[in-house]
Amino acid sequence: MRIDVITIFPQMFPPVLETGMLRVAREGSHVDVAVHDLRDYTTGRHRQVDDQPYGGGPGMVMMAEPFYAALTDVLGSEPNLLPGGTRTILMSARGKRLDHRLASSLAQEERLVVLCGRYEGVDARVADFVTDEVSIGDYVLSGGEIGAMVVIDTVTRLQAGVLGASESLEEESFASGQLEYPQYTRPARWREAGVPPVLISGDHRRIGEWRQEQSRLSTAVRRPDLCEESGHNKRNR
Ligand code: SAH
Repeated sequence: MRIDVITIFPQMFPPVLETGMLRVAREGSHVDVAVHDLRDYTTGRHRQVDDQPYGGGPGMVMMAEPFYAALTDVLGSEPNLLPGGTRTILMSARGKRLDHRLASSLAQEERLVVLCGRYEGVDARVADFVTDEVSIGDYVLSGGEIGAMVVIDTVTRLQAGVLGASESLEEESFASGQLEYPQYTRPARWREAGVPPVLISGDHRRIGEWRQEQSRLSTAVRRPDLCEESGHNKRNR
């Protein structure tokens, strides 16, 4: 999969892309990430990307044209919103909230382009030439870059072959509509706290049952909304 990012702060990305799973996935050619400087697509001497908001108000708004020019260059053609065109994502607090389902759908794509806003946000006409607006949660960030990194991270670990054991994906939180069961590692007794005996029993059937039950309980207690959602999805199937 290929991911292009358009941002005024390209320097934020290398430390993240060069660490851990993302580094390994890039080296293994599971994902190729290219970061583009939005200011390279400005025309004036001042490389201006923002201007005052129409209607007044504080701060600056990012102009549509540099994003359009950058996206057109990166795509090699004008943005195309028809089915089959490349998915282009504007990071936005007003966007669709990222969850496992949206991440899985993005992970199926051969290519993504992610646009990062800054300042008070971007000219509303940018949303008209992208296929998706994505929010990473109900809070406001100072820019789209950290959100773009969240998208890149979660979509990359969903690529086949990126994680060692394939079942580690299926059992993770949200994949099955439930939270993951609690995990433990050595030592078996740590500062008076033990490990559930079933996990040291060697009985894999009972361990499986215990884990399933723990997933169900944790989800019911911590995230009743997920229980309702998966019930709802089942009913709609
Ligand atoms: N005034 C805007 C926020 C602008 S924040 C509003 O109230 O909605 C500047 C940029 O940060 C946005 O253009 C967007 O790209 C990014 N951003 C802020 N919060 C975000 C969130 N929750 N998810 C994704 N991107 C976000």
